[in-house]
Amino acid sequence: MSYTATIEDENKEIAKRYKDLLKGTYQDLSLKDKKLIRTAFDLAVEAHSEQRRKSGEPYIYHPIAVAKIVAYEIGLGATSIAAALLHDVVEDTDYTTEDMERLFGENIARIVSGLTKISHLKKDKDFSIQAENFRKMLLTLHDDVRVILIKIADRLHNMQTMDAMPAHKQVKIASETLYIYAPLAHRLGLYNLKTELEDLGLKYTEPEVYSDILSKIKESTEEQQKYIDSFAKTLDNALKTEAFEYDIKGRSKSIFSIRKKMRKQHVSYDEVYDKFAIRIVFKPVSKDEKFDAWKIYSIVTDFFKPNPSRLRDWISQPKSTGYEALHITVIGPQNKWVEVQIRSERMDEIAEKGYAAHFKYKQGNIKENGLDGWLNKLRETLENQSINAVDFVEDFKLNLYSKEIFVFTPKGDLKSLPKGASALDFAFSIHTDVGLKCRGAKVNGKLVPLSYILKSGDHVEVQTAAMNKPNIRWLDFVITARARTRIKTALKEKEKEIAAEGKAVLARKLRHLKITMNERVINEMVTYFSLKTSLDLFYRFGTGALDNTQLKAFVTQKNNAFISFFKSKLKRNPTKGTIVEKEETTTKYDALVFGKEEEQLDYTISKCCSPIQGDRVFGFITINEGIKVHKKDCPNAISMQSNYAYRILAAKWIDSSKEEFKAILHISGEDKKGIINNLTKVISNTMDVHIHNINISGNEGVFDGKISISVQNKTQLTKLIKSIQKVDGVQNVKRVNTL
Ligand code: MN
Repeated sequence: MSYTATIEDENKEIAKRYKDLLKGTYQDLSLKDKKLIRTAFDLAVEAHSEQRRKSGEPYIYHPIAVAKIVAYEIGLGATSIAAALLHDVVEDTDYTTEDMERLFGENIARIVSGLTKISHLKKDKDFSIQAENFRKMLLTLHDDVRVILIKIADRLHNMQTMDAMPAHKQVKIASETLYIYAPLAHRLGLYNLKTELEDLGLKYTEPEVYSDILSKIKESTEEQQKYIDSFAKTLDNALKTEAFEYDIKGRSKSIFSIRKKMRKQHVSYDEVYDKFAIRIVFKPVSKDEKFDAWKIYSIVTDFFKPNPSRLRDWISQPKSTGYEALHITVIGPQNKWVEVQIRSERMDEIAEKGYAAHFKYKQGNIKENGLDGWLNKLRETLENQSINAVDFVEDFKLNLYSKEIFVFTPKGDLKSLPKGASALDFAFSIHTDVGLKCRGAKVNGKLVPLSYILKSGDHVEVQTAAMNKPNIRWLDFVITARARTRIKTALKEKEKEIAAEGKAVLARKLRHLKITMNERVINEMVTYFSLKTSLDLFYRFGTGALDNTQLKAFVTQKNNAFISFFKSKLKRNPTKGTIVEKEETTTKYDALVFGKEEEQLDYTISKCCSPIQGDRVFGFITINEGIKVHKKDCPNAISMQSNYAYRILAAKWIDSSKEEFKAILHISGEDKKGIINNLTKVISNTMDVHIHNINISGNEGVFDGKISISVQNKTQLTKLIKSIQKVDGVQNVKRVNTL
């Protein structure tokens, strides 16, 4: 079967199809609407002019057909019809989204761009994902429901014209349709489209089953019509007596649903008893359609015995999709069970057209005020449908639509997360353990840091390491409550563990110093180190932030009275060399510091002079071996110093256990409220700085005073002075020699 036609014939056919499109739109089109559709049509014809469908036909047949489904079956207006005509233009031709916006405005451009994105999505996404989740996903990517509606129309036409496709593609597209698009159409209340999508889906996935059922339905059509006639005849008089204008027709179950029933109930075609239903569509005689419907119910049940357990009142409580009708099952002619659906003309139209009809009736002119209302209502319906996973619903309710993203797990499950969530948030959303052991993630196959901000549609794969532990910086880039609490709990537990170790360490150290660890000593230490609780204290000994040096400083301070007395003695007798001598000999040199800042750097001892601890030394920066330390009287010293002076680094041995030194700062400035508090806060928050003494007084709006502190090195002191200068009110900070 090959396609042949002259260009002339084709152009005639295109014009004919276009005319046909405008003829039966569900909504009335204004002149302006028609102009818009015409412009879109002309552009689509031109853009696709070089393109042909698989069947050989001009490509433009497809957009016209999709637009027709949109206009006739779904009942959408001019904007959607135009967008449907243009739906493949950006995808298949040189036109861009920007062109669409320039030529047709923002709305149409957005819809076309949404449709283009879905086509891209389709190509690289794995369809093992659940249909439900995919639908959700579609919705988050496109805030305009019209995108989804046009997409369904697009899919329907592709299914209708799939014969020209290779078989393996047919099966793939048909499965996808059954999996995603048919349920989606159902959810949107587009029952006719859903039925057609399902039947076509079956036609390509199980061709034999499909044609078998189809032929059986055809065989029984005549018999079925006889049955309906006999049913109608029985009721006719009674209905006419009540002045009803009505239409009774048979409604065959779809091929797909017959197949479903056969499978589910393990029965043959002949055993499916409700292969068709009888539908009574009436013009209301009273103002109350519901009352009329029940009146017809009572007439039907006067003649045919109902099964009370199979009564469905969708009028009192319409389905979420807006469907209204009264369904009963009765023992009909020939003693056969038959379903009877009672609907007013309005209800029938809603059942056929979905919400488009619903809103037309509710609000008069759907185009004036109803369309937006309908689309919003659609969104709501989609959002509020009960989803299987309970927590998914919970998340959904908590997060507003636009504030939410959807990402995929490696298995294709969908996770909803608030906008701005990081890869680490995702890890915690999978499982607490996954979060705690998370060390990185792959997003769409690429390695990203934990802090990576996820986007809707991302495929996320968490990488864990058994030894991995959470740290406090994680709190900077998680935004979900779940992740925050889990991290905090874990950090606290870790802190407790470290504190427990620290407590043992401290007890041992105090024992060495012949001090018993008791509550009084602990409290003294907490105060001395400016901490809040004993846990803080133990924690610091656990991490090593506090160790022998600080502990000794504390003990020293504890015996302050004695020490200061001893020191004052030393000062008064500076000439007594013996004491000075003694102090120097007890100093143990165990660490080298370099440069003005007295930094500890990596070094090696040179072989030429082999200096030992306490020797007067200097560092020499070598090309390949880092810093080498030489004695100042090394035989090579002179040549090194004269030729490479710039590579010489001052070096000095220190006693690392006494590496901190005391400094006194003179601070003055404006006497602002809380200034002392702020000063002490800045100082005590600086790592490893300890306050020994504060003596500050305010007078007539100015303050002046001295603070004595311990610091580890000069760099730290410089840093500290800088932060003190930043305290509000401080004008002057300098290092002085005496208190
Ligand atoms: Mn298309």
